Amino acid sequence: MAPSSSTDGPQVPRHSFAAAAGPLPDPVARQVAAACRGGAEGPSILGLSFVSERYKTLQRDTEAALRRLLGIPEGFRVLFLSGGATAQFAAVPLNLLSGGRAVYVESGHWSRRAREEAGRYGVAIALAADVVAEWAGWRAGPPPAYCHLTSNETADGVQFSDYPAVPVPLAVDMTSDFLTRRIDFDRVALAYAGTQKSIGVSGLTLVIVREDLLGRALPATPRVLDYARQAECDSRVNTPPVFAVFVLKAMLDWIEAQGGVSAMADNARRRSGAVYWAVDDNPALRAFVPPERRSRINPCFHLADPGDTAHFLAAAAAAGLDDLQGHPALGGIRASLYNGLSEAAVTALVGFLDAYAPRVSARAA
Ligand code: PMP
Repeated sequence: MAPSSSTDGPQVPRHSFAAAAGPLPDPVARQVAAACRGGAEGPSILGLSFVSERYKTLQRDTEAALRRLLGIPEGFRVLFLSGGATAQFAAVPLNLLSGGRAVYVESGHWSRRAREEAGRYGVAIALAADVVAEWAGWRAGPPPAYCHLTSNETADGVQFSDYPAVPVPLAVDMTSDFLTRRIDFDRVALAYAGTQKSIGVSGLTLVIVREDLLGRALPATPRVLDYARQAECDSRVNTPPVFAVFVLKAMLDWIEAQGGVSAMADNARRRSGAVYWAVDDNPALRAFVPPERRSRINPCFHLADPGDTAHFLAAAAAAGLDDLQGHPALGGIRASLYNGLSEAAVTALVGFLDAYAPRVSARAA
């Protein structure tokens, strides 16, 4: 059989920069594979019952590791739920709105989605991202029940470098930067994150919620989404995503061994810095987010000539760099730098960005 053009020449190592899900580091992937096979430590994790002592111990140990890594204070509960961050777009208003209104800081695609869902249960007011610091205006009227923020806009490549101090409970969607930065629990009353990007696989959503916010759910709140009920039942109102909890625990152990959240934050700063540096230095590429708002996790940029986008993506794929296309709604290029991404992948990407040149001669022809 004739070799296909993609197998001509030397094989290049392949790296994915997908935004939807992040890679597991090799040692974690090996540990998970062994646990799927089963062995001396017990039967395969894939058939583990959620009512078994083995699972209950796993969930307890996972929560303890998470509390250690993030310094989660007493007075906050950790919930292991399913349904993704999208289910939390409904759960947050169902649990916190109490018939009042809420403020949604609008910074891009995902914060808009969160606000639209909240609007199905009550009044969700959009607040532009650049005026959240001027919160004082809200003190005049009756206070909103909570303020919602998306700490890192996965699609738009913008991130809040600090959690704003607001005079009402702050609920934060941390899906794409969870465990890549420390959390200031003096400012954050509720944090939620799907685990598929920087801390494991899909299926599990973590909710960290201040205890005084429990017990306010609207009467029609589905039981699986009712924080108080899930807290009472140790997150076992229904079957939790056992496999995803196992992978999370393996990732937390790996993060701890790497030096914890501060090591992940250093990685994110250094890696994104190298990507933005290469982009800013290359006249064919344009980072369009102002430096102070640039995401350390999902750097986004355009080709100086948008007509070169397909050429860029093809050249990247030929160099072994996959899934660099921007969010379908926004276009352009996006390089997602989740915790599990290897140094080799980052080095290969930065080398490619440094060397990238559009096909001037082809265009001129
Ligand atoms: N919020 C943010 C910031 C996201 O990046 C995503 C997924 N990319 C979601 C929410 C939705 O997550 P899920 O599809 O797991 O519900």
